Amino acid sequence: MMLNRSLPVRSAAELALMRRAGKVVAEMHSVIRENLRAGVTTAELDRLAREVIERRGATSNFLGYHGFPAVICASPNDVVVHGIPNDTPLEDGDIISIDCGAVIEGWHGDAAFTAAVGTIDAEAQRLIDVADASLAAAIATMVDGGRLSDIGNAVQTLVEGAGLGVVREYVGHGIGTAMHESPDVPNFGKPGKGPKLTAGSTLCVEPMVTIGSPDTDVDDDGWTVRTTDASLAAHVEHTIAITDNGPEILTL
Ligand code: MG
Ligand code: MG
Repeated sequence: MMLNRSLPVRSAAELALMRRAGKVVAEMHSVIRENLRAGVTTAELDRLAREVIERRGATSNFLGYHGFPAVICASPNDVVVHGIPNDTPLEDGDIISIDCGAVIEGWHGDAAFTAAVGTIDAEAQRLIDVADASLAAAIATMVDGGRLSDIGNAVQTLVEGAGLGVVREYVGHGIGTAMHESPDVPNFGKPGKGPKLTAGSTLCVEPMVTIGSPDTDVDDDGWTVRTTDASLAAHVEHTIAITDNGPEILTL
């Protein structure tokens, strides 16, 4: 049950550390984007992300999480989330979602993007554009005095309005001294419910959007989440602080 209590509030010093962790995540994203091309393997992208973490004196909150074997999740095409990096080269026309995080002095960042490998068709590009737009719409609701369920309502309204699907089984989350803290941040629901958003609260918002049905299954590896109908999926995420001046994206 979602109670109407307020969310934890971070001090300025704590937010500064989360900003540093977020910048490491953003750098991992940018190095991966620069190296995203047909022929590269997701294991190679994971190695590049590890180099960023080491160079910045951070640690990974993905590696070893419930036994996860890498610092990034790499989720191509019909994989929604939690794909394990491997030695299969990406192909022209693939889409790929990359999710990763970093920890600085005990404070966490977590963010994901979906991008094209080479040239993709218009339907795949629209999926990515709608996912990005839904994240932006969600972030715009994250103001002091807003309500938690406004976030998911913004995602659902935009995505379903575009005729695409919103995954229900996986959700965003609070973040701070752990990657996954309460509350859950669903990507669907009615507005105006749940805890009040307060300046100093920090949340991860992460829409998962599908071209077909939003239903998912998990592979035998226990991690890889795919769309049941094998339709393409996109996953985008930022770590956001609510401030007196509106939402601040910590993972840019
Ligand atoms: Mg997350
Ligand atoms: Mg993530």
